[in-house]
Amino acid sequence: MKIAIIGGGAAGFFAAIQCQKVFPEYQVFLFEKTHKPLAKVRVSGGGRCNVTHQCKYVSELIKHYPRGGKRLKSVFSTFGVQDTIQWFNEKGVQLKTESDGRMFPISDDSKSIIDALWKGVKDVGVKVVLGQKVIKILPQKPGFELWANESLGVFDKLILATGGQGKKENYQWLRQLGISIKDPVPSLFTFNIREPKLNALMGIATKGMVKIPGISNVEKGDILITHWGLSGPVILRLSAWLAKELAKKKYHFNVLINWLPEIQQDQIKPLLAQNAHKKLKNNNVFELPNRLWYYLIQNTNIDLDHRWINLSKSSKNKLSNALSQDTYEVKGKTTFKEEFVTCGGVSLDQINLKTMESLVYPGLYFAGELLDIDGVTGGFNFQAAWSTGFIAGSLGERIEDK
Ligand SMILES: Cc1cc2nc3c(=O)[nH]c(=O)nc-3n(C[C@H](O)[C@H](O)[C@H](O)COP(=O)(O)OP(=O)(O)OC[C@H]3O[C@@H](n4cnc5c(N)ncnc54)[C@H](O)[C@@H]3O)c2cc1C
Repeated sequence: MKIAIIGGGAAGFFAAIQCQKVFPEYQVFLFEKTHKPLAKVRVSGGGRCNVTHQCKYVSELIKHYPRGGKRLKSVFSTFGVQDTIQWFNEKGVQLKTESDGRMFPISDDSKSIIDALWKGVKDVGVKVVLGQKVIKILPQKPGFELWANESLGVFDKLILATGGQGKKENYQWLRQLGISIKDPVPSLFTFNIREPKLNALMGIATKGMVKIPGISNVEKGDILITHWGLSGPVILRLSAWLAKELAKKKYHFNVLINWLPEIQQDQIKPLLAQNAHKKLKNNNVFELPNRLWYYLIQNTNIDLDHRWINLSKSSKNKLSNALSQDTYEVKGKTTFKEEFVTCGGVSLDQINLKTMESLVYPGLYFAGELLDIDGVTGGFNFQAAWSTGFIAGSLGERIEDK
C-alpha cells in the first residue's frame, strides 16, 4: 500500500509518523511544497511553541474551539492533551505548564519540537519529499493520482494536511473535487483604534469587561492597551468567537469597555464619594493603573485636581460612564504575531470525526487547520493538529488494536 500525506506542518508530520508506525509494511510519503517544513511550528508561540494547553477534561477542552466545539469530543477522547504530553515525553521532550495553563517545551525553544518531529519521521522511515506542491488530485478506482508539475503516482490512501489558507481561491482545487469548504476568514487578531490619547497608554494591562454592542455578550478578562488599539486575551477571544461577524462588518464596529469588572455600576459614585474631598487624581479608589485613571478623568474634561464634591452632576455621570461604558470605534484589525489562524476550511459535515475520513471519498482523510476547526490562543490550535493528525494517520484502524 502507498499512502500520501500532503502538507509538512504539525498535522502532516504527526499523521505521517502515526501512519508509518501503525503500518510499517506500507510506503508512507509526506509531500511538502516548500523546502522548510514545520515553518509555523518554528515561529509559534514567539519561537517557544505553545504545544498544548493543560486541560484535564475533554469537556473543558472543547470549550476553547469556536469552530469545532462539541463535535471534537470524540477527537480529543481518542487523542487528547495527556496523549500529547506523553507523545512528546517519549520523544525526549518534557513539557512545562505556565500559570495560565499554556504548555511549552522546557527548553522554551520550538526547535525541540521540530527535532522531535523530524526524529519521529526518521525513526519510522517516512519518505519526506520537499519542494513538491500538489496541485491536483485525480480520484481513481481505486486510489488517488497526485499531480505536482508532473504525476507523483497513484496512492491507495491520502491524508490532506495543507493548513489554513487565507484566500478562498486556495481551496479551489478541493472544491473541484466536490469537497465542501466553509469560506475562510482570519481569527485571532487585535482591534485597531485610532485614539492618540488611548494609544499613548500603550503597555497598560488591566482587567475589564468588553462588549461589542449588537453582536456579542460581555466577555471578561485581561486587556492590553497597545499603540494601535486593544489586545490581550479578552480581545483575542472575542476576535475568535466573532470571527465571521466581524469580517461581515469589515472590521468596523464599536467596542464598549467596563474598566471596573468587579464593581456594580451603582456602586461607582458612592465609592468615589467616600473620599469626596480628595483631589480626583489621588482618589483612585478602584486601584486602576494610575495612567489609565488620569486618562479617564481627563478624557471626560475634568481637571485632575478637582474633587468629587465639587463636580457637577453631569461631570459625575460622565466619569462614572467613562469607567463603566467607555466606547471606542474600531477601524480595522492587526494580526496577532504570536498566533493567528484561519476560521473556515473543509466542512466537518462531510467527515467522520472518529477516523477523519471523508464521507464523500473513502480513503481520503483530513487533518489540521485545513479543517473548519480553530481554537482560541493558548496551545489549542496545535492540540487540534496533533489530535486530528494522529487519528487521520491511523487510517481508520482502531488504535488499541495496534
Ligand atoms: C505566527 C504563528 C504562531 C502560532 N503559534 C501557535 C502556538 O504557539 N500554539 C498553537 O497552538 N498554535 C499556534 N499557531 C497556530 C498553529 O501554528 C497552526 O494551527 C498549526 O501550525 C496548523 O498546523 P497544520 O499542519 O494544519 O498547518 P500548517 O502548519 O500550515 O502546515 C501546512 C503545510 O502544508 C504545506 N502545503 C500547503 N499546501 C500544500 C500543497 N498543495 N502541497 C504540498 N504542501 C502544501 C505548507 O507549506 C505547510 O508546510 C500559530 C500560528 C502562527 C501563524
